[in-house]
Amino acid sequence: MNIAEPLESVIEKIHLLQSRSEVLSISSSTRVSLMKSATAQMEAFLEGLPSGKAYHSVSNWNMELTIDELPKDFELLLDHLKTTIEQSGINAASGKHFGYIPGGGLYTGAIGDFMAAVMNAYAGMFFASPGAVHLENNLITWLCSLMGYPADAFGNLSSGGSIANLTAITTAREHFQIKASEFAQCVIYLSPQAHHCVHKALRIAGMGESIIRMVPIDSHFRMNANALTTLIMEDKSNGLKPFLIVGSAGTTDTGAVDPLDSLADAAEKYGLWFHVDAAYGGFFMLVDTLKPIFKGIERSDSLAIDPHKGLFLSYGLGAVLVKNKNAMLKAHYYKANYLQDAEDDRFEISPCDVSPELTKHFRGLRMWLSLQFFGLQPFRAALEEKIWLCRYFYSKIQTIGFEVGPYPDLSVMIFRFIPAYGDGNALNERILHFIHEDGSIFLSSTRIQGKFWIRLAVMSFRTHLAELQHCLEKLELAVKKVNV
Ligand SMILES: *Cc1c(COP(=O)(O)O)cnc(C)c1O
Repeated sequence: MNIAEPLESVIEKIHLLQSRSEVLSISSSTRVSLMKSATAQMEAFLEGLPSGKAYHSVSNWNMELTIDELPKDFELLLDHLKTTIEQSGINAASGKHFGYIPGGGLYTGAIGDFMAAVMNAYAGMFFASPGAVHLENNLITWLCSLMGYPADAFGNLSSGGSIANLTAITTAREHFQIKASEFAQCVIYLSPQAHHCVHKALRIAGMGESIIRMVPIDSHFRMNANALTTLIMEDKSNGLKPFLIVGSAGTTDTGAVDPLDSLADAAEKYGLWFHVDAAYGGFFMLVDTLKPIFKGIERSDSLAIDPHKGLFLSYGLGAVLVKNKNAMLKAHYYKANYLQDAEDDRFEISPCDVSPELTKHFRGLRMWLSLQFFGLQPFRAALEEKIWLCRYFYSKIQTIGFEVGPYPDLSVMIFRFIPAYGDGNALNERILHFIHEDGSIFLSSTRIQGKFWIRLAVMSFRTHLAELQHCLEKLELAVKKVNV
């Protein structure tokens, strides 16, 4: 079969369509002018951070822009973004954001993203972009050495910690060749403080029917290694299949670091896979004085770590490291006929061979550019600064009537106001409500064993002593306003 139209009229049609579609390739002068406007808006945004709010409670969504056939004015679009994005919800770039796990978003990272998008490097496969894949693989090698993994360990840059944890769990499942019929006998050992994305990953990995043992924690919210050993022995003698231990190198709730070395002992003795969720805490390994609490992390089989937290990069960058490279490949490697030209993996492993992704954002560039541009020194200093800021806050907050949780292992801690009488939970909820309505700082909360706690997470590269003082002043004011 062939096309019915005469070829001349086909050419005419193609020309017509080109005249309409070629507006998608904008001219150099237009590019420069659009960038100028966008950069000007981002400059105003950044310059406004110190005096601006850390939180805008969502109120008016009165400006909805529909997707239409015809183009819209660029300035109008920038305006729209200012009101709907810059001025709504948490300002995650603010140094006064102390909720969840902030990071900030280094500007060099934004430049890296910009360049990655303009070049549109295909960072999923070595054949398609050897340079991009090599750069990302070098970052993986650097992460492995930072974590004390051997030179032949491997990993993948993911969109975040959740996917990193999922990739590790899938790898562990495939490494042990666990069949679906065995899932219900498999046992996974977690602390009640494990991040919920680990539960989610287990379910996505098909292991929702497996047994999850909540290992008791101590008064510092760290996993009790003796209790872990007892549970494993019990499960073994009951004919179950102890499979996986997940330890935390910095929990989200309180920043607690589990006794990783003892967990590694248990994993080794009983032949389990040992995974460490270091999404929040991992980069504190850059601070020499903190290294001892992470002892044993190097003995794990896999770990998750988030550069969009500890390296202050913008959201969308996590990493999974796996000691046994072949286990990673075994769980993810596929051949596709239409990719036959790309099967040139003699040189380097491609991200698509060790992750669920194929076409992939060149997300490593933001990390590489930032580490190269600044060097490691300021990162080490910033991370150590966060630790001391948190410790300082821990002391100060007790002088204004608050009780505190355990002394922080890292840069997250919990605290709550002690009322003279009445319900402590309700009062602290009101304090947090006041903080959110005010918006000049942002704090989040958690509930542990029925108690409502306010949480402080110091992790933004823009958070210094002044921002922390501001936080203390706001809390003092909140108590005055609410505690009547
Ligand atoms: C943030 C975090 C996660 C989840 O990672 P995302 O990057 O948000 O997907 C998992 N575990 C811990 C301890 C975290 O702090």
